[in-house]
Amino acid sequence: MTIHTLFAKLDSYYSDMVDVRRFLHQHPELSFEETETSAFIAAFYKELGVETKTGVGGNGVVATITGAKPGKTIALRADFDALPIQDEKNVPYRSTVPNKMHACGHDGHTASLLHLGKALHELKEELTGTYVLIHQHAEEYAPGGAKPMIEDGCLEGVDLVFGTHLWATAPLGKIQYRAGAMMAAADRFEIIIQGAGGHGAQPHKTKDAIVAGSQLVSNLQQIVSRRVNPIDSAVVTVGSFVADNAFNVIADSAKLIGTVRTFNPEVRTQIEEEIERVVKGTCLSAGCGYEYEYFRGYPAVVNHEEETHHVAAQARLVPEVTLIEEIEPEMGGEDFSYYLEARKGAFFFTGAQQDGVSSPYPHHHPKFDFNEKAMLIAAKTLGVAAINAQS
Ligand code: MN
Repeated sequence: MTIHTLFAKLDSYYSDMVDVRRFLHQHPELSFEETETSAFIAAFYKELGVETKTGVGGNGVVATITGAKPGKTIALRADFDALPIQDEKNVPYRSTVPNKMHACGHDGHTASLLHLGKALHELKEELTGTYVLIHQHAEEYAPGGAKPMIEDGCLEGVDLVFGTHLWATAPLGKIQYRAGAMMAAADRFEIIIQGAGGHGAQPHKTKDAIVAGSQLVSNLQQIVSRRVNPIDSAVVTVGSFVADNAFNVIADSAKLIGTVRTFNPEVRTQIEEEIERVVKGTCLSAGCGYEYEYFRGYPAVVNHEEETHHVAAQARLVPEVTLIEEIEPEMGGEDFSYYLEARKGAFFFTGAQQDGVSSPYPHHHPKFDFNEKAMLIAAKTLGVAAINAQS
């Protein structure tokens, strides 16, 4: 099969793709609640006669297309959950549900992959290999949908996995990639310092949780600057410090909440341990007790070298792709990381900036929108990367 046959089919589905995206955009569902969206996806494939599994690891849907000739099994993933945001766009397809909105483009990922699936199904007599279309629920909210879908077998027999995110702040026609770490692991910590409160005029009879907490905030700065190898990047941020009292009262306790961002799993574990060491030491010297909890979010998205360069090379065959660039890592998180821990593959960004918009609203903004033509570019790029991974 020539890749041009696939491209021509996708071109002919473009207006359907837009319709599906706009329907999903009007009917957003939050992470772990996406039953209607899940049913919509399953019905789309069932009508075509594509083998489909539902309820995979939760609301996940997996469709499988087996080509006439045996070959590798390639998985392609699109997420489909929305966010708890009020849609403030003035467009006919705005969300019909208060405080729920597709503000990250997952509606576009879904419409794009559904029609790529349709094209692959119609061309299956000419195809080599098997194509597993992973429609994933709950990307936006940790622990996420990827992990349970993998545990439920969505990668069984899969050799390679590819995925993309529409990126509304990158120009249309641009494909952005990065071999190695591309998106950070995003974790959260909570520390409670237990002092002994008392009268503001009698500090000698207390253990001041605010003084201990203030020292702790500055001591934590030394983890990245003095403990982590300077070749690795990491962030330790205290985002909240609460010890609310009257002006003449010494605080009994204080609560600190923060985030840790890393790319290297060893550094991630190191920081988790270093924070506890610093908390323990600081509280000991202040005579305070403590509680410390570290919550792991998604691991870093680490692309495999060969598969990343494969995607970048194949993207050149897509007529609408005008620029392919390697980018710096992003500090944001994505649970595509779990697929890349389990199989070789790559995740990339598909530029989706709207025509005539010079400063687009960022992802997760109440006025977020993207260029729908990017759905076609995403489908073509994923399609060509998958089909040409056979040889
Ligand atoms: Mn997203």
